[in-house]
Amino acid sequence: MSNARKLSMKNRYSALTRDLDWTPTYVDPKAVFPFTSFEGIKIHDWSKWEDPFRLTVDSYYKYQAEKDKRLYAVLDGFAQSQGHLSLTDARYLNAMKLFIQGVTPLEYAAHRHFAFLSRYYDGPGPRFAAQCQSVDELRHTQTEVHTLSNYNKYYGGMHNWPEQFDRVWYLSVPKSYFEDAMSAGPFEFLIAISFSFEYLLTNLLFVPFMSGASFNGDLPTMTFGFSAQSDESRHMTLGLEAIKFLLEQDEANVPIVQAWIDKWFWRGYRLVALIAQMLDYMLPRKVMSWKESFELYFEEQMLGGLFPDLEFYGITKPRHVEQAIGEKDLLSHQVYWALYQFSFAAGFTTTVPEDDHLDWLSANYPDTFDKYFRPLWDKAKKVQDEGGRVFFRGLPQLCQVCQIPMLFTEPGDPMRLAQRQVVHNGERYDFCSDGCQWIFEREPEKYVQAWLPVHQIYQGNCGGPSVPEVLAWYGLQDGDAGEYAGSVDQQNWERWHDHAGKADVEAPVEAEVRA
Ligand code: FE
Ligand code: ZN
Repeated sequence: MSNARKLSMKNRYSALTRDLDWTPTYVDPKAVFPFTSFEGIKIHDWSKWEDPFRLTVDSYYKYQAEKDKRLYAVLDGFAQSQGHLSLTDARYLNAMKLFIQGVTPLEYAAHRHFAFLSRYYDGPGPRFAAQCQSVDELRHTQTEVHTLSNYNKYYGGMHNWPEQFDRVWYLSVPKSYFEDAMSAGPFEFLIAISFSFEYLLTNLLFVPFMSGASFNGDLPTMTFGFSAQSDESRHMTLGLEAIKFLLEQDEANVPIVQAWIDKWFWRGYRLVALIAQMLDYMLPRKVMSWKESFELYFEEQMLGGLFPDLEFYGITKPRHVEQAIGEKDLLSHQVYWALYQFSFAAGFTTTVPEDDHLDWLSANYPDTFDKYFRPLWDKAKKVQDEGGRVFFRGLPQLCQVCQIPMLFTEPGDPMRLAQRQVVHNGERYDFCSDGCQWIFEREPEKYVQAWLPVHQIYQGNCGGPSVPEVLAWYGLQDGDAGEYAGSVDQQNWERWHDHAGKADVEAPVEAEVRA
């Protein structure tokens, strides 16, 4: 052991990771690692894997413990000083409800699957990387739960997220996305999660949440974001290493990887539709528009920065990318309008944007907002002013692949809903786009099995045939769903701020309103 001190960091790392590997002699290696050949990927030399996690286990835990200590100090201070009262508005928390319901369970799923992969990759380099990421993802799950638990004491929508993730219609979008990846082979998972999710789309996903938090007075979420940042940059490096490793190992890997990029770009892009609406509609104080974010983090950094480098290996831009670009002026508006109509069955609330918000949308979407979307809001506002509320009482058709209601429109024609159909073994399947249809046609055996929330309701698997029965099965309580104006959260927010300065007002008011 005394020699360990004299080794360089790199050699010490290698001694503690790779040198623990051995070649099995009395068991066939194929029996030890049964999952790494069926996808057709060829690996000739596992030692060429450059590990992004240049940390030994002891230094890894010390470093993470330091970050946790700092985060929990902030969480305690925020809770003790009733920090939640200094958010921009209670409405802001709709973004965090979506986060704990839809993103935190993905962290846990990532934890589980990286743990699996840390056993099943043949090479010690990727095995160790998978193990570290598995531990990171468990930490993210825990720190997110703790960060948001303080809000759960005062606001609706955050009390039943693990069950809701498995049951509620819009949460089947992230759930089915991740389960698609987990049920794929070990290399496709790397391209799906490490490359497409953590590298290609990561800024589109996480920057809005974290900047949204900082713009709206949410110090705990911001601190969590910083705490996860250094893990995230290791995960991004892993994504980039994974793709380069696969492409460099064998030319035969290139077309396989290309098809995965094509699939997972579109799967991921459909998933971030939820983020697009959050950025443009859910944040009281705006960070940037979805369009700006898409242009900066995807078109400029990825299409402009990354893909020219990948061309060297024979990789081209993702299939259907032009359709994504063509939707950037429409996406957030179409999605939020759908959520506005269906939020009676959601774990968050929606409302008509206020006048200055509508003006901000007009200014940021000069080609589309006034023409297509502002008239919808004017009408909804009129209905609401007269004491009504536009809710869509019926169940929408869902896309068989992304599971989003069919709300997207034909490329170049924002007035016509897009709908694609495929008949497979005598059954009809519907898709929101060419991208989702293409994904289905590659692997129909997989997607015919999709658990589509609307079909499940019709088949009687979701608590019963009536809306109240389904909502009870979702575990929704009074105040979780529907219209924000007049909601429990909004009433509490108003009263807490009316009574600012009176120390004893908090608990009684909450009890009174909730009872
Ligand atoms: Fe994570
Ligand atoms: Zn779709």
